[in-house]
Amino acid sequence: MKCPNCGQEMRPGFLFSTKDGALSFADEVPSWLRNAKHAEGFVKVTEVRPNHRASIDAQCCEACRTIVINY
Ligand SMILES: [Zn+2]
Repeated sequence: MKCPNCGQEMRPGFLFSTKDGALSFADEVPSWLRNAKHAEGFVKVTEVRPNHRASIDAQCCEACRTIVINY
């Protein structure tokens, strides 16, 4: 899909939190018991920070429900 903000083809996937306090992106959300690093298409978004809530600066386009994140 292309976002009207950037016009670029966007890769579908999921931004998710890991049990060790990081945000990651992958083609699919890995099961809770699986090491997220082994998920298909894994990209590290934030560093692991145990006991912190994972978060990342993002820009959201509510019109087309698109979130763009720089990591
Ligand atoms: Zn948009």
